[in-house]
Amino acid sequence: MTSLSSEVSDGHSKSVEDVLRTLGTSAKSGLSTAEAARRLEQYGPNELDDREVRTPFDILVEQFKNPLVWLLLAAAVGSVILGDIVETIAILAIVVLNAALGFFQEYRAENALASLRKLSEPFASVRRDSDWSRIPAHEVVPGDIIQLEAGNRVPADGRLLEAAHLQINEASLTGESMPVEKQTGPLPAETELAERSNAMYLGTIVSAGRGIAVVTSTGMSTELGRIASMLAQVKKEDTPLQKRLARLGMQLTWAAVALIALMVVVGLFQKTPIKDVIMTALSLAVAVIPEGLPAAVTVVLALGTRRMLERKALIRRLSAIETLGSVTVICTDKTGTLTLGRMSVSHAAIASGIVEGIGEASFDAGKHSRLIPLLAIASLCNDAPVHQQEAESSDDEKNAAPEAGDPTEIAIIDVAPRFALDVAALRAGLPRVEEFAFDSDRKRMSTVHQLDRSAAEPLAPVLSEASSGFVVGAKGSLESILSISTQEWTTDDLKPLDDASRKAWHALHDDLAAEGVRVLAVACATRSDLPSGDDIERDLTFLGLIGLSDPPRAEARDAIAKCYQAGIRPVMMTGDHPLTAKSIADQLGLKSEGEPAVGSKLTGLSDEQFTEIATKKSVFARVAPSDKMRVVTVLQARDEIVAMTGDGVNDAPALQQSTIGIAMGVTGTDVAKDAADVVLLDDNFATIVAAVEEGRIIFGNIVRFLTFLLSSNTGELCTMGVAIALGLPLPLLPLQILWINLVTDGFPALGLAFERSDHDSMNHPPRHPKAPLLGRGLIIDLLWIGFVMAIVSVAAGAVITGSLAAPRPEDESRWRTMIFSVLTLTQLGHALALRSWRQTLWEVGLTTNRLLLVSVVVTSALQLAVVYIPALQKIFNTVPLSLTEALLCPVFGSVIFIALEARKLIRRRFFPNAQHDNEP
Ligand code: ADP
Ligand code: MG
Repeated sequence: MTSLSSEVSDGHSKSVEDVLRTLGTSAKSGLSTAEAARRLEQYGPNELDDREVRTPFDILVEQFKNPLVWLLLAAAVGSVILGDIVETIAILAIVVLNAALGFFQEYRAENALASLRKLSEPFASVRRDSDWSRIPAHEVVPGDIIQLEAGNRVPADGRLLEAAHLQINEASLTGESMPVEKQTGPLPAETELAERSNAMYLGTIVSAGRGIAVVTSTGMSTELGRIASMLAQVKKEDTPLQKRLARLGMQLTWAAVALIALMVVVGLFQKTPIKDVIMTALSLAVAVIPEGLPAAVTVVLALGTRRMLERKALIRRLSAIETLGSVTVICTDKTGTLTLGRMSVSHAAIASGIVEGIGEASFDAGKHSRLIPLLAIASLCNDAPVHQQEAESSDDEKNAAPEAGDPTEIAIIDVAPRFALDVAALRAGLPRVEEFAFDSDRKRMSTVHQLDRSAAEPLAPVLSEASSGFVVGAKGSLESILSISTQEWTTDDLKPLDDASRKAWHALHDDLAAEGVRVLAVACATRSDLPSGDDIERDLTFLGLIGLSDPPRAEARDAIAKCYQAGIRPVMMTGDHPLTAKSIADQLGLKSEGEPAVGSKLTGLSDEQFTEIATKKSVFARVAPSDKMRVVTVLQARDEIVAMTGDGVNDAPALQQSTIGIAMGVTGTDVAKDAADVVLLDDNFATIVAAVEEGRIIFGNIVRFLTFLLSSNTGELCTMGVAIALGLPLPLLPLQILWINLVTDGFPALGLAFERSDHDSMNHPPRHPKAPLLGRGLIIDLLWIGFVMAIVSVAAGAVITGSLAAPRPEDESRWRTMIFSVLTLTQLGHALALRSWRQTLWEVGLTTNRLLLVSVVVTSALQLAVVYIPALQKIFNTVPLSLTEALLCPVFGSVIFIALEARKLIRRRFFPNAQHDNEP
């Protein structure tokens, strides 16, 4: 083999043959699998150096960029100065423990996100061993023959071999926002990068047309790779919730600083010993800051992505998790999302009338040979691949690997053999020389073929006698095909298309569409000279209609019902005819006022008129992608939180504009996926609803552990406040507070993050995303819970002293140990009560949140250790409690639990319909 250079950078100045030869490959068969594997070894994977990934070291460093850590380190220094070495070591140990806990949680979260990034990586259509297959883009090697279609992200640099109206948007590389029209001929060697119309570049976007290219360089040797080092690092943005929590954390930290200052001033005035002043100030400060909060939120969001993935929703932006639960309108495609997307030809109509039951086993195709020209044109004007062994492939295989291509077109190819139509032979005999690809705006596709009479047997009835030269084929929506037709085929003859026959076709069409089938109109023409441009789609002969049935998904029906229950309005937006749309909507139980809104009638409307329709109608037919965009905008202007699905190139703007952009994982283009916040791995509407439900559960859990962690802080603060008011000594030492906040709160908080008790999260309307995080109900809860905690722990202290008076100095440690233990247990009880806002712990089931149960048991054991293990006693200043005292701890500790459980029962008994304020 000739020596290969991984960079054929002058490919644009050479002929296609030269480039292929230099790269040791062939356009017809591509590389062999073995050779591709060897090259992958030689050139490495087709990837840019990943700048987004945080190394474990970065994560570790981040743990120390936290004001609390600095406060603690200052405290440690203070203890050294005061000569308290045990305390210094303990504080340092807690700093390290806190950093380690944070590190491991974030590391796990980071890994979860990294695997998500892998999953959203694009694929490329590559020819290997003569066959087309889809492989992950990072496996592409120099010499690969790849296919480009509208919506693809170009997977590597290369030289074009074929270009059919191929346009590539190279803005990401050259900054030029207009797409570049591509061709295949060689160019002068000195042609600038942006002018090389026969080349493709990694990271650019195919905006229209189709092409085939050979890869010349991959990964860091590509043009994008060369400038990759200059690209600004993509900043990872915190989600709105993370920002709000960070702000809350900052506010509390400043409150802590203010508190310290106040305590120091007061202490100095009262001439309290300096050591005590510092201790008190530090205790208060530690009590105010919710230490475990940021880590817990990051983990919950990251692990939430994993949950969503299990339900087939791939999250591309973390913020989507928060917003999903607030969605008020879901605008969805019909085809493939509400329906199975498994189309089959069920009807056809020619001038002589409708033919039904084409898909059924009993159908006798022999009696309907007049449909052959219709199907032949629809198979020629068609990009679906023809599989030789189609007949033998079992249903299982078909289900395992979704076929490449548009389901509409596959259905036509699949039905052709029934009519003894050999599509492969037809395509070979009438090679395609020109084409206009399908797009959802024009709603039609047309192709031009070289006419060879001997190969055109199936078309004979519709070819005019004298014609030779070329055949034009077109298929698309009725309106769009009628608008370019001037004749019709009466099945005997060709005659001008007059108003009466146009009406007749409309009537046939409406009969089919009313059945809920998608209808394609088909037309053709013969030309003696090769037509070009506008001449192609002109003066066609209308042949007839094909009806494709695509059954609704059973689970979509349930999902739609769930939406209504959850206060979400589902809206169907389809390119299909209003009658088809209406029929499917009815079958799915999608409520819609009156007739569907029709795209063509929306164009001239004023914003008010449009808003009126967008808020009333729930079925939109014959929409173009621009209509979707407008619907999103006007709904958003009315404060709706809009989720919108899309798959095509033209859907990207609407996906970007909507609050939650949802792309189809199976049929979606790279462009749509890039613009989306969520990718549906199964293209299923029910998955959207599942993701919304999951979003609500996750948000509910965030509120849960926020309540939990903050109530712990208010509890500690109130306890200190009450103690100070009663003239008692400091009831908790800083280390004890740190222990509660970091250790005994940390584990149960994580347990709460995995709570799944919200079965009814879809039974109430969505939460407004701007609603305050700490709602009124929550703040009131925090206050009374904190106050009750203080009363309970001071009362527990009174067990030691026998009164509310200050303990004698020799009893002080035992008094503190009691209060410390009661507060810890109170928190555990609180966590258990927080599992559900409505159901008691017994109703949700004690063992249904194993993680929480385990963390409660572990934390109790840890508390016993702190109280009874001598080495730990020294650090935490605890003393062993007597058996009676120890048994009284859980009694005092369960007061909050009992209060909250009792409240649930009372609420249910007397206010069964009231919504709990804390419920998201
Ligand atoms: P949807 O949004 O429901 O997928 P499309 O915009 O893809 O709708 O399709 C709209 C109309 O365009 C269909 O009703 C059909 O008449 C026509 N059409 C759909 N797919 C094709 C195709 N591959 N070739 C030609 N026409 C098509
Ligand atoms: Mg479509």
